[in-house]
Amino acid sequence: MDSNSIYQKSREEVLEVGEKYNLAEEKLEEFLEPDRVLEVKIPIKIDNELVNFRGFRSQHNNNLGPYKGGLRFHQNVNKDEVMALSLWMSLKCAVAGLPFGGGKGGIAVDPKQLSEKELESLSREYVRRVYEILGPQKDVPAPDVNTNPKIIDWMVDEYIKLNKNGEYKTNELYATFTGKSKKGLAGRTEATGFGGVAVLKRIAEKLKLDPQNTTIAIMGFGNVGYYFADFASKAGFKVVAVSDSKGGIIKRDAKGNFIPLDIPLVYDCKMEKGSLNGCYCAGGVCDMRGGQMITNEELLQLPVDILVPAALENVITENNMQNIKAKIIVEMANGPVTPKASHYLIKRGVFITPDILANSGGVAASYIEWEQNLKGKTYKKEDVLKRLEKMMKEAFENVWNTAEKENTNLPEASYLVALKRILK
Ligand code: NAD
Repeated sequence: MDSNSIYQKSREEVLEVGEKYNLAEEKLEEFLEPDRVLEVKIPIKIDNELVNFRGFRSQHNNNLGPYKGGLRFHQNVNKDEVMALSLWMSLKCAVAGLPFGGGKGGIAVDPKQLSEKELESLSREYVRRVYEILGPQKDVPAPDVNTNPKIIDWMVDEYIKLNKNGEYKTNELYATFTGKSKKGLAGRTEATGFGGVAVLKRIAEKLKLDPQNTTIAIMGFGNVGYYFADFASKAGFKVVAVSDSKGGIIKRDAKGNFIPLDIPLVYDCKMEKGSLNGCYCAGGVCDMRGGQMITNEELLQLPVDILVPAALENVITENNMQNIKAKIIVEMANGPVTPKASHYLIKRGVFITPDILANSGGVAASYIEWEQNLKGKTYKKEDVLKRLEKMMKEAFENVWNTAEKENTNLPEASYLVALKRILK
């Protein structure tokens, strides 16, 4: 076994839970192995020269429905990584109660090195190479790291061209990809952050927290971090620190108490200055007087009630776990707490809400988009968000009740809920 394999590590974590709860070992072993991993050559012309990129699609398991999961464009994409990410998607879809299995794919490429035209050629050629295994009831990709609705739109367009013999109707062709701009879903952009706050509200209810007296620090102010901050503030929580790749900001009064940030003002400032760094200024449009710059490492160690890592994986590790002071962690990024750090923090009494539950609002919205396309309808944003809130509440309650019944923590209970659904 390759000790650096993320897939092997994820597999072991699942096996541990399976062993503890006597889940049928043979069935579990069979589930863990991806159904199919396709690796393809993607030749495109760059400066009149043919360059071969490698593309992947891991179809992990479809016990519950079509394979579902993103496509990432990143230089580190490889077979092992897509296998691990597709396994997590199987678990995430199951914990969210969706009729989807797990999939993940991508291309080993640094998209910043390509022109827009080259990026379009690469996206279209990828679809030509994996066309046969995609379909509304087979495998439904979505955007992921460094891919976006524009890239998905090119892919859909190519997919439509390939449907020459009319295998699929137009609405089914659109249902084969989610995260589109054309025939996409109103509310998809904010869905992950919104879903995370739906979970946050349930946590507050269960743990009897008063939002007005609950402080939150959020690492990452991109799609997920910003919407989480915005919806959490609107729900009355005190968002007191946010950060991006260049660092974070907090505000304190003369006695050193945290002052909640004005999230729309912070957002406008980030848009204007390009990073939160520039928002610690004296007056001006951002009006962050009294603000203070902090590093991302300092943000993780703030004495807040709730810490929300919403940027990168592996930010809470053996190196900094002793310094974490928050009593609750809501994992909005994928894999922000390493397994060792997670075990240590749980033992210390920290309440961790795992990524496969907390950030499943994104894939839940993808499900609504898929359904909308299959039915040939266009849903209203307010209806989408209402439905999403209900789906997140149900997913949370299920995991919470399982945790109570088994006298365990939410990460383990999430795995258990997912595995029981899949193995059934
Ligand atoms: P994004 O690119 O929109 O935002 C990422 C944010 O992280 C940015 O603010 C960036 O400045 C910040 N960041 C980058 N490097 C950093 C560093 N070293 N320290 C601190 N901050 C840093 O990405 P996103 O869509 O918001 O995704 C964030 C995380 O959530 C990822 O782990 C992603 O896999 C996960 N996720 C996203 C979705 C979704 O729907 N977007 C769904 C599920 C999970």
